Amino acid sequence: MYGREIFHEKLMEPLILSSREGRIASSYIFEGAEGVGKMRAALLFADALVCQNRVSAPCGKCPACLRSRAGTHPDVVTVTSGNKKTVGVERIRELTAEVQLRPFYSQRKVYIFEDASSLTEGAQNALLKTIEEPPDYAVFIFITADKSSLLPTVRSRCVTLHFPPVESGRVVRYLREHHDEPEERLRFAAVFSGGAPERAERILSDEELERLRNESLDALSKLLSSKLVHAYDAAEFFEREKERAEQVIELWLLYLRDMLCISCDDEKAVINTDKLPRLKKAAAAVGERKLTRAIEETLLAAQMQKRYVNPRANALSLAIRIKRADMKRNRG
Ligand SMILES: [Zn+2]
Repeated sequence: MYGREIFHEKLMEPLILSSREGRIASSYIFEGAEGVGKMRAALLFADALVCQNRVSAPCGKCPACLRSRAGTHPDVVTVTSGNKKTVGVERIRELTAEVQLRPFYSQRKVYIFEDASSLTEGAQNALLKTIEEPPDYAVFIFITADKSSLLPTVRSRCVTLHFPPVESGRVVRYLREHHDEPEERLRFAAVFSGGAPERAERILSDEELERLRNESLDALSKLLSSKLVHAYDAAEFFEREKERAEQVIELWLLYLRDMLCISCDDEKAVINTDKLPRLKKAAAAVGERKLTRAIEETLLAAQMQKRYVNPRANALSLAIRIKRADMKRNRG
């Protein structure tokens, strides 16, 4: 779209049209999952704001557009925490002083906070006066996965745009254009990313994830088995991988979902196609009823994990709850 590859055209088109007419807010929050493409959209909006051809902004041809696209426009400022964890008060004081200087090159100045959640409370307070009474040329864009990381006083000054997940077919097409990988891997990355194309790219290059996928499948087979000793093995595995616990649970849910597809004769819907033979075998051994139960219990385990429950205890109790379903079935 207008020379940039973005994923939210429908959301951005009205914003760009209104920027041509000068009907814009001074502060925006771009909220959406990590890797969904908010930064791309913010940069496109910045192109439109600084373009010298108002009627067709961003024209892609004027010197301002060319600079903005090259990332060298002096009036498009990206604020990041750099190699620190947070953006503090001092950085914001420098910035607010700088905001008061008129644009160097274009009619507007755009400030993009690449990860607004990295702004400390003090930094946000230091910014407040500027966003309450900004110079008429200044536009602020706060990018965040969760706008509750911003103070209510900041939020109330901003127009929020929600960036939804990208449809998985579209993510696959994007990955196909940029990565020479087998189709099944692209499909897996698209689904596993939850509709976040940039996250999907990181998944593709994450070799550690491949190991985790294999070991998670081994552990899942143990969770589903009827031997108690296997439950302990699965709990040990989960404890070892506690840093990536949420990812392991996501992988388990995807495998379980695939097994359910197989047991419902819908093999085409399987996502982990590279593991198909193993999944088929496991699905046949477990049965539809226990699978449904295992999915419910794994969703519960996911909630528990978010509450910082001890990983080993969480996995063990998951295994026992799944086994209990077995026992009930045998009795009944
Ligand atoms: Zn232009």
